[in-house]
Amino acid sequence: MASMLERVERLARKNVLAISPYVPGKPIDEVRRELGIEDVVKLASNENCLGPSPKAVKAMAGALGDSHLYPDGGCHRLKQKLASRWGLQADHFLVGNGSDEILKLTAEAFLHEGEEVVVGWPSFSEYIFVANLMAAKVKKIPLKNYTLDLDAMAEATGPLTKLVVVCNPNNPTGTMVGADEVRRFLDRIPQDAIVIVDEAYAEYVDHLGYPDCRQLILEGRSIVALRTFSKIYGLAGLRVGYALAHPAFIQAINRAREPFNVNSLAQVGALAALDDVEHLEASGKTVRAGKAQLYQFFDEMGLAYVPTCANFILADTGKDAMAVFQELLKRGVIVRPAGGFGLPTHIRVTVGTEEENRRFIDALRDVLG
Ligand code: PMP
Repeated sequence: MASMLERVERLARKNVLAISPYVPGKPIDEVRRELGIEDVVKLASNENCLGPSPKAVKAMAGALGDSHLYPDGGCHRLKQKLASRWGLQADHFLVGNGSDEILKLTAEAFLHEGEEVVVGWPSFSEYIFVANLMAAKVKKIPLKNYTLDLDAMAEATGPLTKLVVVCNPNNPTGTMVGADEVRRFLDRIPQDAIVIVDEAYAEYVDHLGYPDCRQLILEGRSIVALRTFSKIYGLAGLRVGYALAHPAFIQAINRAREPFNVNSLAQVGALAALDDVEHLEASGKTVRAGKAQLYQFFDEMGLAYVPTCANFILADTGKDAMAVFQELLKRGVIVRPAGGFGLPTHIRVTVGTEEENRRFIDALRDVLG
């Protein structure tokens, strides 16, 4: 008789069985449990080291008593606020359970089996996941100089290309592509290819040449831009992100959405976080200072790193990054080894507070001897 495993494997969709599970940053609690270390610093998931916006926390505490009510499925207030912030209409926006969810919804709404998804590589692994889920084909186009090679990506598109993902700044390298390049790229790709511009780290970018997705959307480009409250707004645990796009795209993606996809606390928290200018400014400032602190250390150690536009840095340890990762764990510091991205000696470290960076610096100096 066939085992249960065999039976399930026969019943499941083949493309789903082929999906490799997402590898998240190691949780602090797990390190405490496994290694018995109390004082653990997590610099592995590009979270905000200052914590959530205090205004968001206060607003959510005030909203707890309404937890028996279903949330507003349409996220009306949040979309209104985003619309006024962006100078767009509410129907240019869709709010999701993290921008992860919107990636999946966009794939569900548009991708047919066998169509192509063009991505840069290494880049954020969720793009591959949603493509696999829909039995689409993935074309991974190698980065050039740690940066998306938009020419090669445009070259790789064809009649079967449905989605192209531009992760900007790119995770895990932290590099960005500029407005002129993106325009040239958009002019070169097939008319029916939809470009997902993932701007999860946009608020950390201080280059003038950063593309203006709003303008591109108003010009009628086939762009779905993604933003998140998980990074600079410090609300990763609540799961809230949003898409901005032409209302016709939003309507199609919205059809794939569950009715109550964004919980009520997330909605209240995100609304308040948008108004917390102090927290935003402090978060940006902390990352700018932390980058300088970490660059200085890498320079001192003679370690190559990729200058970043985001709140994380990719650095080459020159050693097996998995071993370095394990040694750092023993010293209570969690980073992300980049082997899964095809970079076996690199680690990605999230910029933390001065003290957290110091912990990382001391630990890595110790590990590398
Ligand atoms: N895009 C990129 C490039 C990311 O790095 C992340 C978070 N790791 C996300 C999207 C997902 O963000 P969210 O928490 O909004 O799902």
